[in-house]
Amino acid sequence: MCETCTEHRFEHIRSLKENWDSYGAGPIDKRAISAAHQIIQAMKREPRIMPTSVGGILLSWDTGLSEIGDVDLWIEADGTLEEH
Ligand SMILES: [Zn+2]
Repeated sequence: MCETCTEHRFEHIRSLKENWDSYGAGPIDKRAISAAHQIIQAMKREPRIMPTSVGGILLSWDTGLSEIGDVDLWIEADGTLEEH
């Protein structure tokens, strides 16, 4: 365990209180923490890898979360990520 590992970061984020940034930020919502955790777990698995019609590649991770669905990375022909 190090201060930057996943479990440490989630523990830190869960502990954030009102005004944690000194600019009036609220605590981080449990639903966001849960979704982030599940997305990280999903992305540790192999993605589906598909060619795209414009000469690129789509990497797609199924999160198993109905609200989120897949996490998709669209890679352009030139190797950059497509902005959505
Ligand atoms: Zn750690």
